[in-house]
Amino acid sequence: MTVQEKIQQLREELHTHNHSYYVLDTPTISDYDFDIKLKELQQLEDENPEYFDPNSPTQRVGGEVTKNFDTVTHKNRMYSLDNSYSKEDLLDWEKRIQKILGTEDIEYTCELKYDGASINLTYENGQFVQAVTRGDGFQGDNVTTNIRTIKSIPLLPNSDFVTDFEMRGEIILPLEGFHRMNEERVANDEEPYRNPRNTASGSLKLQDSAEVAKRPLDCLLYQVVTTERKYASHFESLEAARKVGFKIPDTIALAKSIEEVLNFVKEWDVKRHTLPYETDGVVVKVNSYQQQDELGYTSKAPRWAIAYKFKAEQVSTILNEITYQVGRTGAITPVANLEPIQLAGTIVKRASLHNADQIAKLDVRIGDTVFVEKGGEIIPKIIAVDLTKRPADSVPTQYATHCPECHTELVRTEGDAKHYCPNEFGCAPQITGRIKHFISRKAMDIDGLGGETVDLLRKGGLIKNYADLYDLTVEQIIPLERMAEKSAQNMIEGIEKSKETPFEKVLFALGIRFVGETVAKKLAKYFKSIDNLLNADFETLVAVDEIGDRIAQSIIDFSNDLGNIDLINRLKSHGVQLEVSAESLEGQTDKLVGKVFVVSGVFHQMSRTELKKAIEDNGGKVSSSISKKTTYIVAGDNMGPSKLIKAESLGIPIISEQDFINMIA
Ligand code: AMP
Ligand code: ZN
Repeated sequence: MTVQEKIQQLREELHTHNHSYYVLDTPTISDYDFDIKLKELQQLEDENPEYFDPNSPTQRVGGEVTKNFDTVTHKNRMYSLDNSYSKEDLLDWEKRIQKILGTEDIEYTCELKYDGASINLTYENGQFVQAVTRGDGFQGDNVTTNIRTIKSIPLLPNSDFVTDFEMRGEIILPLEGFHRMNEERVANDEEPYRNPRNTASGSLKLQDSAEVAKRPLDCLLYQVVTTERKYASHFESLEAARKVGFKIPDTIALAKSIEEVLNFVKEWDVKRHTLPYETDGVVVKVNSYQQQDELGYTSKAPRWAIAYKFKAEQVSTILNEITYQVGRTGAITPVANLEPIQLAGTIVKRASLHNADQIAKLDVRIGDTVFVEKGGEIIPKIIAVDLTKRPADSVPTQYATHCPECHTELVRTEGDAKHYCPNEFGCAPQITGRIKHFISRKAMDIDGLGGETVDLLRKGGLIKNYADLYDLTVEQIIPLERMAEKSAQNMIEGIEKSKETPFEKVLFALGIRFVGETVAKKLAKYFKSIDNLLNADFETLVAVDEIGDRIAQSIIDFSNDLGNIDLINRLKSHGVQLEVSAESLEGQTDKLVGKVFVVSGVFHQMSRTELKKAIEDNGGKVSSSISKKTTYIVAGDNMGPSKLIKAESLGIPIISEQDFINMIA
């Protein structure tokens, strides 16, 4: 046997043992013998560096140190999931998808919702090549070296599978390992970790992969993404993935109806406490890939899946104080400061109270014993007061009348749930809040400038608004606390580079009230420049699809403020993108304006996504179900029969892929 063959043999053997131990939970070799073989392999690899392989079992111990994790764009977006909390929610969802699919014949898979950090594993030619965190769903961090140390993740899955694919799953920290880590920390006089989920996601961002290797992390997989059409359904592909070595929990099940889904939920709401890891719900998915394709996605989540959240845990504790926070738009949020208490694995000290009405509705008072619940959100909420425990001398809560930061009198306009501090340009948290929003990842994404630096810059009198950022010089910022020349340089470069940020993101960055990411995209596409947008009147604005009175009025208010116009002019003079670039206009026309399309079936010349993009690029609108408003149905192969009937009964023309291509040519 040649050295190369020997190395190969040892690697295969060790991969198999890893799989038996970490995935199947049935060790096939003693730890001692495993170590001997691993050492032998390590020595052969050291002596023969030409056979280095990043996927060798020897690489599982880590050692490589990553200072900064690269940002990677996901090939396929990692969506969120819509949530449901009751049987009615699930039945509503079923109705919606039955309507789109035009059939009642839908099979579901039920999986537990594993509570950890999402991960996307990329395999090429059957080999593990990259692992990226979910990030914002479009881009995440490249944590490949750290992920390689998790031994239940196969680096070379068995070849009887698709060859190029992404595996999606959850990095979790099983409870036993979590408690063990905490015992060790307590013994070393260190603060224990709060909960397994945060510890798991924190572990992925450790710089030293050898540290990651020591943590008892695990990875549960729940989705195969591939263009190879080897499997027809989600369940089938998960079963196949399990056979080739991936850890797919055997709790997954098929359901023929929502009734069966509910049985699964009922069973696991109890049994989940016996699992070695935490779960916070059930994820229900339409099983057939063909039906999944038909259903597609909303701007946030697949239509073919829904999470069902288990009922949140509740505790009661004492409300010590109500304080008020000021957001970037001046909105005031009351915060309940609680007697710290353990809830769903974390220590809770604060809870959100939303607004004055909420406080009045709950009649919550200082000194009250309150019930606190933790749902999906990070900040728990107060759901009720335990009146039997109310102190005799308690007084009703008086809502704040003045801004806690700048002492300006608060205002509340008709119809607004929130109070606002009107001191827009003089109130510190509003000033920094707007700048922090401007530089954030989904907005201008300025590297080398963080929230704390913004505070320092403002305190130092260097910036009062986001346009001021573009006047900063290295010399001005070096004297700031903790600012080295290199970081000053990076910051200025980051600001310079942000001038290339596309208009739709700049528009979002401006922080116009109610203009979120999706609305900014819509407006950028429609108006194409800031001048067109700010010159538009109310009627023009509300005529834009999905722009309502509230958003339109907010844009008008923004454009009527000369301070804002001055900021925009300054951004313009610095070369920030305040109109859509020529490249992104390429291929865009108005040919389909006013037309509504429904896309159904399987296509050949374009993918379904490309087809939808082409409709939108040419000014048309894509809708998911057929109605009187539909102008055309673009039909591919295997269009659903009930859709066909519906289209015919409403007299809506059905066109082919080729007809459509001719239409936009
Ligand atoms: P959310 O973060 O609430 O939008 O829920 C979406 C997340 O649930 C995904 O990003 C996954 O990380 C996580 N998740 C956990 N278990 C599953 C599962 N079985 N199927 C899909 N997603 C899951
Ligand atoms: Zn204020």
